[in-house]
Amino acid sequence: MIAARSVSLTIRGRTILAPSDLALRPGTVTALVGPNGAGKSTLLKILSGEIRPGSGEVAVDGTDIRAIAPAALARLRAVLPQSGDVAFAFTVDEVVRIGLAPGIPRATANEIVRRALAAVDLADRAAQLSPTLSGGEQQRAHLARVLAQLWSSGRGDACLLLDEPTASLDLAHQLLVLKLAQAQAAAGGAVLAVLHDLNLAAMAADRVVVMSRGRIVADGTPAQVITREMLGAVYGVSLGVERRGNRVFVLPAGMEAA
Ligand code: ADP
Ligand code: MG
Repeated sequence: MIAARSVSLTIRGRTILAPSDLALRPGTVTALVGPNGAGKSTLLKILSGEIRPGSGEVAVDGTDIRAIAPAALARLRAVLPQSGDVAFAFTVDEVVRIGLAPGIPRATANEIVRRALAAVDLADRAAQLSPTLSGGEQQRAHLARVLAQLWSSGRGDACLLLDEPTASLDLAHQLLVLKLAQAQAAAGGAVLAVLHDLNLAAMAADRVVVMSRGRIVADGTPAQVITREMLGAVYGVSLGVERRGNRVFVLPAGMEAA
């Protein structure tokens, strides 16, 4: 489990993240949502150990993240950054291999890479140069790298942190990515995904955390959090929210009375 306690970040006098608490629960997909600049990526980077908070601490399975060696941390949690362009002429296969834990046998490594590429629907692209992939395909190649990291980590229940993993994907591949996130949670991992599509978040996440202006302003089930009031207060939009049982979805503008 990854837990941030009272983490904050101020850069050149500007509070990017006010003191915030967030514990990612094993077996749970948490969607982190909020407007551009709300501090989502900053909080995710603090949780992953990529950046140090100005105050507060992050613990992984109860151990301060600063005390965990990089190789050990790589087995505890995998991270898909918001933009993962590879400028170098790596093949897709080489990009995925970057994720592999060191020292695993060649046959096992090959099998994990094959499975990871198949999981993101790029089984036939292993030899293609990464820069020649479409934007969405590149994103999936990076996700395959993250899966290779998870699947070679030696533990099935590693944490998974995804920053806008569906941003440039078509509808079918958005659903595929969220299924992979759910699979990691079903295996016991704590999963955090920054998402903009609230309907996708409501569909795929057990828990939705909303950030606005550097603060966590709501935290609960999709039905608790995704409300007309929240959409107005956080996004400044006037949109309807429909409920069907315990499911919730945001309606397109003008559809409120439908
Ligand atoms: P988002 O919710 O869109 O992911 P970010 O966490 O990336 O937002 O950024 C939150 C705010 O902090 C933004 O306004 C961004 O410009 C600012 N910010 C983030 N990192 C830095 C930095 N290193 N220096 C200055 N401003 C930063
Ligand atoms: Mg971001």
